[in-house]
Amino acid sequence: MISSQLQLASYLLASILFILSLGGLSSQESARRGVWFGIAGMIIAVLSTIFGEGVEGHAYIIAAIALGALIGILVARKVEMTSMPQLVAILHSFVGLAAVLVGYGSYLDPDTQSLVGTERTIHLIEIFIGVFIGAITFTGSIVAWGKLDGKIGSKPLIYAGRHVVNIGLVLFSIVLCYWFVKTGNIEGMNYLYMMTAIALFIGVMLVMAIGGADMPVVVSMLNSYSGWAAAAAGFMLGNDLLIVTGALVGSSGAILSIIMCEAMNRSFWSVIFGGFGNAPSGEAMEVTGEVTSVDHSEVAKMLKDAESIVIVPGYGMAVAKAQYPIYAMVEQLQSEGKEVRFAIHPVAGRLPGHMNVLLAEANVPYDIVLEMDEINDDLPDTDVVLVIGANDIVNPSAQDDPNSPIAGMPVIEAWNAKQVVVMKRSMATGYAGVQNPLFFKENTDMLYGDAKDSVAKINASII
Ligand code: NDP
Repeated sequence: MISSQLQLASYLLASILFILSLGGLSSQESARRGVWFGIAGMIIAVLSTIFGEGVEGHAYIIAAIALGALIGILVARKVEMTSMPQLVAILHSFVGLAAVLVGYGSYLDPDTQSLVGTERTIHLIEIFIGVFIGAITFTGSIVAWGKLDGKIGSKPLIYAGRHVVNIGLVLFSIVLCYWFVKTGNIEGMNYLYMMTAIALFIGVMLVMAIGGADMPVVVSMLNSYSGWAAAAAGFMLGNDLLIVTGALVGSSGAILSIIMCEAMNRSFWSVIFGGFGNAPSGEAMEVTGEVTSVDHSEVAKMLKDAESIVIVPGYGMAVAKAQYPIYAMVEQLQSEGKEVRFAIHPVAGRLPGHMNVLLAEANVPYDIVLEMDEINDDLPDTDVVLVIGANDIVNPSAQDDPNSPIAGMPVIEAWNAKQVVVMKRSMATGYAGVQNPLFFKENTDMLYGDAKDSVAKINASII
């Protein structure tokens, strides 16, 4: 058992470690260190909470942690890198559910029933808000998991007057909060249940209203919601560390959402209120032109003749795990004096920073990995752009077709290069489900096949 002073000091240390962890995660070079800071902070946080004053039933708590840790290790070991977003989404749902259960438990706790006056009112409002945010996060994250996993269609589910319905439900929840605080006895649970049902519904509708291409922002937004849900649980339990940690996750998730919104040219406020992903009113433009394809030896020759090459990786590179042969190709081309760089779109793949992680895994040096904004202007002077398993992020409709579901999203302007080769298995659409006119352009050739196989075959010709 540790004293409350020691517990406070441990909480402070854990908070500092969490801040250092977030700081570390902001760049690839320091990310590993950031993860270790996070692990150390979490160990200190858990131990100082379990062995704090007034905590009983240690055997049960340790057994629960051991069981949870075992499940976590098994799941995390099994999950493919390409399924990470689904895992993150489902983990957010657990935080939401935990906030709901903590809220119920906190209300039923005899200590709560004995509170009086302002203290009691504030505590009941904390419970109400905590359960509300938790329930929205819970169902919102489950729907996000379904959409990311392809179990739920990526089309936005929109009905007329949904904003009015949502605002009406929030207003009704405020009325329920008033009754809940006023009642305060066991009957108050009924108001809590009613509000939970409403919040669960709002969570579903908020995320259902969002279209496929806009899902990246939803993932970071739910990350933020889960942080606020944890902070609310911290208030309910009177645990300062949980409040600090929840606020860190909530605000960093919100900042990430703003960055993603800017990268995708979407309004942050409409994301928060689930109002975007609106289907455009008109018909999308018809794609015209002819698709031409090439084989590996022809691509090898193009690369041999080129002086400047830009590689645009996308989700397909992750699926194929093609980053290793790609880097072998880059090294060979560089050894022949060619300029080879990578162009990274902020929402390439299925996670923020997905491509950067994969390229770092294959030891690609950071200085040849450029952001979309840094490289778009260089593309007209580039001899060959290799699009490897990417689709939506190089779709010119985002600029040319106001009725496209991805209209307005900034994209990598691959078509401006002298020659473009797109490596994918078929003419299938990407995550947003829209046809890509890039494939039909005169300076574009398709190289069909699994990205890893294709790159390996090119390597066999050039190395
Ligand atoms: P896309 O999903 O647009 O396209 C990926 C392409 O890869 C597919 O068209 C597929 O075509 C091809 N592919 C799949 N497997 C292979 C393989 N083994 N070998 C070669 N090609 C393969 O991916 P992008 O990276 O271009 O764009 C990301 C999309 O995901 C955007 O719409 C973004 O909004 C969304 N998104 C992003 C998130 C993020 O945080 N980054 C989160 C959630 C969604 P084919 O089947 O013909 O091979």
